[in-house]
Amino acid sequence: MDHRTDPCTDFYQFACGGWIAKNPLPADRRSWGRFQEVQDRNFTILRRILEAPGAGGDRKKAADYYAACMDEPRIESNGLAFVGPDLATIDALTNPDDLPVLLAHLHAYGVPAFFRFSSRTDLRDATREMADVDQAALGLPDRDYYLKTDARSVELRGKYMAHVERLSGLAGAPPDTAAADAKAVMEIETALANAALDRVKRRDPAMTEHPMTLTDLQAITPNFGWRKYAAAAEAPRFQAVNVAVPDYLKALDQLIAATSVGDLKAYLRWQLLHASADLLPRAFADADFDFFSRTLAGQQDRPPRWRQCVTETDARLGEALGKAFVEEAFAPQAKADMLQMVQDIKGAMRQDIDAAPWMSGGTKKAAMAKLNALVDRIGYPDTWRDYAGIRVTRDDALGNRQRAMAFEHARSLQKIGQPVDRGEWSMTPPTVNAYYSPDRNNINFPAGILQPPFYRAGRDAAVNYGAAGAVIGHELTHGFDDQGRRFDGQGNLRDWWTPEDARAFDERASCIADQYSSYAVAGDTTINGRLTLGENTADNGGLRLALMAYLAGPGAKLRDRRDKVGGFSPEQRVFLGWAQVWCENTRPEAERLKAATNPHSSNRYRVNGSISNMPEFQKAFSCKGGAPMVRANACRVW
Ligand SMILES: [Zn+2]
Repeated sequence: MDHRTDPCTDFYQFACGGWIAKNPLPADRRSWGRFQEVQDRNFTILRRILEAPGAGGDRKKAADYYAACMDEPRIESNGLAFVGPDLATIDALTNPDDLPVLLAHLHAYGVPAFFRFSSRTDLRDATREMADVDQAALGLPDRDYYLKTDARSVELRGKYMAHVERLSGLAGAPPDTAAADAKAVMEIETALANAALDRVKRRDPAMTEHPMTLTDLQAITPNFGWRKYAAAAEAPRFQAVNVAVPDYLKALDQLIAATSVGDLKAYLRWQLLHASADLLPRAFADADFDFFSRTLAGQQDRPPRWRQCVTETDARLGEALGKAFVEEAFAPQAKADMLQMVQDIKGAMRQDIDAAPWMSGGTKKAAMAKLNALVDRIGYPDTWRDYAGIRVTRDDALGNRQRAMAFEHARSLQKIGQPVDRGEWSMTPPTVNAYYSPDRNNINFPAGILQPPFYRAGRDAAVNYGAAGAVIGHELTHGFDDQGRRFDGQGNLRDWWTPEDARAFDERASCIADQYSSYAVAGDTTINGRLTLGENTADNGGLRLALMAYLAGPGAKLRDRRDKVGGFSPEQRVFLGWAQVWCENTRPEAERLKAATNPHSSNRYRVNGSISNMPEFQKAFSCKGGAPMVRANACRVW
């Protein structure tokens, strides 16, 4: 708390000022906030699990994986042994016709060269999986980094090229070759960036929905052998494939035809080294950290090794580790309380839809049907993933990662043409986060987030509703944000809105987009209101639903609604519960990176943006009209 700040002037500062002053940003962090605090506690538990002797089964596999990652002397002495054969295979490429087989091999390891091939839900029949080809992640964090012409972007590109050159040199290229490699990489990636669909457009599910036959795909990209690729990837036979961004693939096809084999090889070498750098000898890992963490995100020091290796083990063998985590850290009471809150918040959403003055009866009925079909999942999956197919050794960190990635890639490809498995989770149990899945219409809360400050058993219900409750409301609202509303209750991409209601929705959403676009971070950068629209809509709706649910549930049972705790009324404590999960210290570089790539707004505005749209907040804190936390033209979707 910061009692010198008026809550009506800057509520984030009022609620978080004390925490911010007491929790300076450590040198080995990009940002340090309440989420990282919880994650640190979870990681400490995971570390204990991973370092405990005598584990068996998948838990032993996770422990061995972690041990290999921790064994820095071994990684140092392994040198390039575990990327050497792949570098040699790349080097042996002489004919672009052999590229499909080589790419299938690299993709299995998670090397994101040129494009991504996987399985995903068929959005016209959300009970089935289908093949999907999409643009790949670029080396720099976003396409804009290649295309913008301001001084900072130009400088960053120079540093990026220097980094590519450095890695190439470390892998043995003579200085001339290393410099030429960097130039080739920059040219190829810039061409890919130009063809890539930007993040805002990608938020519209129709923009990445282009189902076609394999024959059609082959016709628009004549220079790339898709059948060769699919066979080498050991994908099941398929006819239909979703081509997320056809123009990207056409440009890629032209690029492959027009680029020398030497330059293609430089790009592939870079992709492989970049994807492996953090598990290669120190010189590689340091260089990788220096550019991607220090330069791009402002982080000064590398994190302790154990934290890096817990992150890595959680990412690759998450459910082996998550099972043990849940046994230690997840109480049945948390699940029961969460289920109650979910019920209350769904009830609030029903009321909210029912009362919406801008929606017609027919659309309300369809929205209600979607809400009734929505499934909630708390804590962890019902069936745990079986990792028996992955070989893990204690002396080969990079090989372990490659085998784990190949296992996961093969698992994804085997789904092509199969029914969707609705029991799967896309976050591991210790994760401090939650998600809504539009193609499955479910909300998911890993055990990792059901901890203080989000939730604590027996705590003042107003604070639990303001924190965990608003997170539940946030995920629920995603089902009805500008993206979620395009899907029906079964997860199909299907329009259930009348044109007038869709127009009324868009108008309300535009108000939120304009509001957040006016917020500045790190001095001269502004939030992209269109990139963050779904998240901001979810924050605004989620907080309102949590307040409604609290007042109709535990709040209604209070003997006297004016009862104060710590000097705050029940409504005030709901708002404080919300604000205080977002307290953080962060760096300008990290804020700029977030604004360019992250669909979530800067934490300060997740708080001030949402509360300043709420007359309920103005009333709770008796703010005068015209106060900074009272927006004259308040926006509201939900
Ligand atoms: Zn969200």
